[in-house]
Amino acid sequence: MRFSEFSLQPQILQALREMGYEELTPIQEKAIPHVLAGQDLLGVAETGSGKTGACGVPLVQMVDPTLNALQALILVPTRELAQQYVAELAEIARYTDVVPFAVFGGFDMAIQRAKLRDRVHILVATPGRLIDYLWNHALPFSHIRTMVLDEADEMLKMGFIENVDFILSCLLHDHQTLLFSATMPNAVGQLARSYLKDPVRVELNKEQIAPASLAHHFKYIARRDRLKALVTYLREETISQAIIFCNSREGVGRLIQALKQMFQSVELIHGGLEQPQRTSVYNRFRDRSIRLLVATDVAARGLDFTHVSHVINYEFPQSEEVYTHRSGRTGRMGRSGVAMTFVADRELNALQRLLRVNRIDPVWHDRVPSLGREARRPGRKAPGRRAGRRRRRSRSSGTDSAH
Ligand code: AMP
Repeated sequence: MRFSEFSLQPQILQALREMGYEELTPIQEKAIPHVLAGQDLLGVAETGSGKTGACGVPLVQMVDPTLNALQALILVPTRELAQQYVAELAEIARYTDVVPFAVFGGFDMAIQRAKLRDRVHILVATPGRLIDYLWNHALPFSHIRTMVLDEADEMLKMGFIENVDFILSCLLHDHQTLLFSATMPNAVGQLARSYLKDPVRVELNKEQIAPASLAHHFKYIARRDRLKALVTYLREETISQAIIFCNSREGVGRLIQALKQMFQSVELIHGGLEQPQRTSVYNRFRDRSIRLLVATDVAARGLDFTHVSHVINYEFPQSEEVYTHRSGRTGRMGRSGVAMTFVADRELNALQRLLRVNRIDPVWHDRVPSLGREARRPGRKAPGRRAGRRRRRSRSSGTDSAH
């Protein structure tokens, strides 16, 4: 189905055309008619599916720009997601008079407050910062027609349940509520039961969620060779952009020190960075001035970096869910991507579980470890190192040369 088949404002259709949005993604096809009809909605979908547009397009269409009041409120769990969300809204709304804005921690409240007082129609916020506004400065809710809870499972996991509850309870008048979550744990179900009225449930099946263009590569290594294996991989593989995941900030700190000695264009991101620094790294990675990003899972969840060709699990992910979120940073919207995971002996049990639970068809580089039959069955071997060397030789020298 195409966007042009909806009776959207011509200004919105023009913006969508320029954004390259012609066909709707499955989640957009399922959700947009209900959102436009004013129904409550429970969407089980992850980022990468186009769910920002599934809300963003109808919200921009529904807002009345002649009314200078907040008309839609979107809650997201992290600052980066708030930035990403508002950037997409701004693109959709660029030829209209609809004004989207985001408030999140780490930025000057006075500036944000002035902007809020001036003119904002759609507000994207993290729960903590929004509560600051609710306590300190009256944020008028009376014209809000649509409330969106994005990544509800993540918000609950991050301990925002009371904040979310409080914010929702401040909306006393009749309104539409849209709740999106990648998973449906009990707490999210409860939230939905408390705040959604006869919601339409929109769900993507596994094939629709997991892009077929994502290849799952694994390399069996000795624990002490982890860094060596990574460096070899970074040198031999053709990588346009990669996120390299560690399980802790300390791990990120150690790895970046080593990599900076050998590679150009490598930066780090984790929750301990000051906000301006975090935003700068995020923006530079997005506009591709950074090629290798060493990260904790703060960068795994939800963020949309369209050009990431490789996700590298330098340290083995702590759950199958974390693996899914990390690897979902590549292979986005039909582009091909590789998730490469380094596995040492003590991670083999977790690996077997990962392959089984996530139904992964692994591509092994070099050695295949001995696994239970079930886990090994679908395995394939990657092309040998020679192919890698050939590729490397034929590449022009560039940012990935070590020095
Ligand atoms: P999201 O799941 O909202 O983070 O979207 C994932 C990526 O898909 C983003 O890069 C969007 O810009 C892109 N996208 C969303 N909807 C469409 C569409 N209908 N056509 C093409 N790209 C889209």
